[in-house]
Amino acid sequence: MSLELLRTLCALPAPPGQEETFRQFMIEHLSPYADEVRTDALGNVFFFRKGKSSSPRTIMLVAHMDEISFLVRHISKEGFLYVQPLGGFDPRVLDAQRVWVHGRQRLLGVFGTKPTHFTSPEERTKAVPLEDMFIDVGLPAESVTEIVGIGDAVTLERELVEMGHCYTGKTLDDRIGIYVMIEAFKRFAESQDTIVAAATVQEEVGVRGAHAAAFGIEPDIGIAIDITIAADIPGIEERNWCVRLGGGTAIKIMDARSISDRRLVQFFRTLASESAITHQMEILPRGGTDAAGMQLARNGIPVCTISIPCRYAHSVVESVHRDDVAASIELVRIFCEQSHRFTTT
Ligand SMILES: [Zn+2]
Repeated sequence: MSLELLRTLCALPAPPGQEETFRQFMIEHLSPYADEVRTDALGNVFFFRKGKSSSPRTIMLVAHMDEISFLVRHISKEGFLYVQPLGGFDPRVLDAQRVWVHGRQRLLGVFGTKPTHFTSPEERTKAVPLEDMFIDVGLPAESVTEIVGIGDAVTLERELVEMGHCYTGKTLDDRIGIYVMIEAFKRFAESQDTIVAAATVQEEVGVRGAHAAAFGIEPDIGIAIDITIAADIPGIEERNWCVRLGGGTAIKIMDARSISDRRLVQFFRTLASESAITHQMEILPRGGTDAAGMQLARNGIPVCTISIPCRYAHSVVESVHRDDVAASIELVRIFCEQSHRFTTT
């Protein structure tokens, strides 16, 4: 496990539609392991390792580069910034957080909050709606307007750290998926099928990149790698946990946006059992992954998602268990090596 690589992945900014910096890092990091590298017009990047078979199928692994973030939509006379969210934010977890404002230069900012001394008892029990939240960058209005413009991106600021058996920080959704994909792609010995590792754009705003990616690459099989919700925390009954942190890699049966191909689900279960990889089965009633974007491309593509259980998703304290990460890498690696055993007939 390379904490340094994961920390770099989590720190690089990639708001939906502005994934250039992250894509450039992917190209520099993963190209030495690929036979061919391609990009498409939307900004997805693809790394190919050619299959050994005389007529190899194409299997696309997908993890998304973009992160939930914001665009500046208004600058007040006093120099406070108001923002438009890109992706699913819960205002309860934004209060009093630090952010990076990506203007002409990068500025540190904070989501300002009314001091408790000035709030009514009723206000203290409610989250401030996102449209009323503001960012303070600690500069006078004239300086702010020189550096920041409407449409500039804002990302959350929080360093990845180790906590017990876990990693915690911002953007583990989906940098941990990118990490798993990178490691599996580097480690698999060889495959009969051509394996394409695709780092996609604009997942958080509706699985847009993956849809174009699948149309362009035309894979025979699509595998998304993303986080899922580990709701095994106080206040949630066990029957609603979805998956358990530390319970192993999760093989998705379904979520709100896709139903995994039943044969693929069974194949992953078989591989995990054969190799004694700790795994759990996942049914997530809400949310979706790039599998949803892929499955509807062209005349339909069989998909499955391999999920990394994550507590506190879409906050700056997203947390994943190191054993689940290791199990996910191992399952994807073995899948790449054994994919020829999977048939759709
Ligand atoms: Zn995600």
